[in-house]
Amino acid sequence: MKREKQKPAPQKKRKETREAISWFEESRKQQKKILKRSTSTPKKRGYVTTNYALAKGKKGKYITPEEYKNQQKVLKALEKTSQYLAVETNITVILEKIAKTVTTALGAKQLTVWDFTPDKKGAFIIAAYGMQKQYIEHSRKDPLPIGGAWLGRAMATGQAWATSDIWKDPVLPKSWLRAVKKQNYHGLLCIPLMRKNEIIGGMCLYHKDPHEFQFFEINIMTIVANQAATAIENARIFGDLQTERTKTISIIYSLNDGLIMYDPEGRILFFNPRAQELLLVGLKDVIGKKIDEVSAKGSIYLENLQRVSRLVQKDYAVKEYATEGPQKLILEVTQIPVRDRKNKKIGTMHILHDITREKEVEQLQASFVTIASHQLRTPLSGIKWSLDSFLKGELGPLNQNQKGLLAKIFDTNEHLIDLVNDLLDVSRIEEGRFGYTFILSDITKTVDKIVQNLEINAKSRNINLTFEKPSGPLPKVSVDTSKLELSIQNVIDNGVKYTDTGGFVKIKLRTEKKSLLLIVEDNGIGIPKKDQGFIFHKFFRAENAIRYQTEGSGLGLFIARSIVEKHNGLIHFESEEAKGSAFIIQLPLDPEKMPKGKIEGL
Ligand code: ADP
Repeated sequence: MKREKQKPAPQKKRKETREAISWFEESRKQQKKILKRSTSTPKKRGYVTTNYALAKGKKGKYITPEEYKNQQKVLKALEKTSQYLAVETNITVILEKIAKTVTTALGAKQLTVWDFTPDKKGAFIIAAYGMQKQYIEHSRKDPLPIGGAWLGRAMATGQAWATSDIWKDPVLPKSWLRAVKKQNYHGLLCIPLMRKNEIIGGMCLYHKDPHEFQFFEINIMTIVANQAATAIENARIFGDLQTERTKTISIIYSLNDGLIMYDPEGRILFFNPRAQELLLVGLKDVIGKKIDEVSAKGSIYLENLQRVSRLVQKDYAVKEYATEGPQKLILEVTQIPVRDRKNKKIGTMHILHDITREKEVEQLQASFVTIASHQLRTPLSGIKWSLDSFLKGELGPLNQNQKGLLAKIFDTNEHLIDLVNDLLDVSRIEEGRFGYTFILSDITKTVDKIVQNLEINAKSRNINLTFEKPSGPLPKVSVDTSKLELSIQNVIDNGVKYTDTGGFVKIKLRTEKKSLLLIVEDNGIGIPKKDQGFIFHKFFRAENAIRYQTEGSGLGLFIARSIVEKHNGLIHFESEEAKGSAFIIQLPLDPEKMPKGKIEGL
């Protein structure tokens, strides 16, 4: 250990030299530590081929201040290479810049960066400095086998492999010598590119002359290899993200719905082509801008956009908007919150769905139904009164046969009148013309009246129709009696209609804290599970109901629900096929204080 006593530098008092000495001492200490940790015997100097375990240090020689200066130059280069990672985004540019800087700093001739072939059996060059194009292309056409040559060994073992002179190296297959001589290099160092213990590529440094690689150079190359590996990994992650982003964007771009995304401050982040088409607003007019701060400058299109943006304020709420201007559209606007992985809200989205055609068709249907029903109502009423006169014998005595037949015609006519009335009610509901007049009433009386009306029918079918009245008087509720009657009648009527002879329909009225509950329970045919989601839809009838009772419009429950909801109430049911059903109508005692969405006491 003679060299330890040697004075490290000439006696210049310059700051740089002082720093050099302290660094020199420090580096000696470090290297001693590494040597202590090293388990294997260091190779003798003057080697031809050697491999290095990366993590364990192998013996290197101590450096002189002169060498230190060189190393400073190399470290500077290293600092530069790390900057490329931060500044550049193109992976080839990063690797090529790293290659050039490191090659120059280490006084080498060429540098190559290698990647695995997809089958992991070979390697090819992905970036290089100073290397002939043919060699690079050749590596792509005919990849170097993993395990063979210096690079192949580095990529197979995860260790650095070097030769001080490839021309003299006995490891080099004889057949390669010509090609290597053509390349015109002697010293070669190959380092694996590692990411979290995984070999993801390799890197080779070529020296024009025979060159014995120093521990420092190998360390530097290892650091550079780590940087390159980071760059490649980042590029891969970035590439994957790009692919995902492209996928998402193409989905959004090809959506048939308009999509506007806002950041938490209300700036428009995204405005897909369909939104541009629906609102006739160009991307550049709105992107990155707060829509409220955009001056509409008398543009009806920008005004449409501003109104759409302000229209829906609650998440998941849906509203309709009719555009103004030459393009008349009806848009259904839905607001959806945008959340990140941690469920933090990072923006809001408006989905614009063009419902113009549906609305037109609906309008057409409604007008058709109204006109047709009005045209039918008068003649049907005429027929009813004429039949009534016949049946009462006002037009002369009838025999039993004639009476029976006319009674049947009367019933059929009644069904038709009911149907026309239902159709008219539905079109009034849909057009918002189903006017309501609310007054405080006692529901018990209304239910009583309905039950009495239905009793004859129930008796004729031997169905036990009962009304369990509340013991005391019920609080009065604010209702439109005639409308509510229609609603309750539909529900009780269904109970009777869909229950077998000998069955029962039980009606109960009771008060809860904030509401009145009317419960209609039967032991009839029930509603199959698969149909339960649809029974409030217009014209829907379950298959078992159609089989059991051919007559029916599928409008009763639609009307019933619409009326109950206008009273701020709820209609709910529970049912099992072949066992029976229970329908519950909840009416609020005070419509202002009624919590929405849940039946009380259930
Ligand atoms: P309609 O009775 O004219 O078919 P509604 O709108 O009143 O039309 O009812 C819709 C459907 O709901 C019925 O066709 C039937 O399938 C089902 N339904 C309603 N009430 C009952 C009930 N009490 N028992 C069994 N099914 C019922």
